Amino acid sequence: MKPKIFSQLEQEKYFGKANPQGTYLVMIDLPYTMYYDKQPVNKMRCHKKVAQAFKNVFTELLSTYGEAKLNELEITDFGGCFNYRLMRGSRSKLSAHSWGTAIDLNPNRNTLKETSATARFARPEYKAMIDIFEKHGFASLGRLENRDFMHFQYGIPI
Ligand SMILES: [Zn+2]
Repeated sequence: MKPKIFSQLEQEKYFGKANPQGTYLVMIDLPYTMYYDKQPVNKMRCHKKVAQAFKNVFTELLSTYGEAKLNELEITDFGGCFNYRLMRGSRSKLSAHSWGTAIDLNPNRNTLKETSATARFARPEYKAMIDIFEKHGFASLGRLENRDFMHFQYGIPI
């Protein structure tokens, strides 16, 4: 089954109501170092129901690319996971980041409004990365909607 982009109702159905405290979060260890604003990050908080899926993605990214290539391609450039906030451009809908079921990578080179014409993750060397996210249940907004290439969110009914 291909992951899709859940509506807010689906997010609540599968993950419960979101809250600013993130009472549903767990901390996972990363199998390689990521960098948030150039500061090393070795752990990440995410929703407990998708913790294993995130671990599977990171493990497979590492085995597929190797750490040097992950760094070179800036796949280790972490833009955040849990963040209780509205979807950008919406006055009422929460972002999937509010549940800790979405991750942003290399945000400066894959901005919200960039399409495949300029977004770095649209290049062929990132196809394997997007395939790995999809294999483990994460939808790519870039691949599905040709925007916000930084963003991957969990989208299989659980
Ligand atoms: Zn995002």
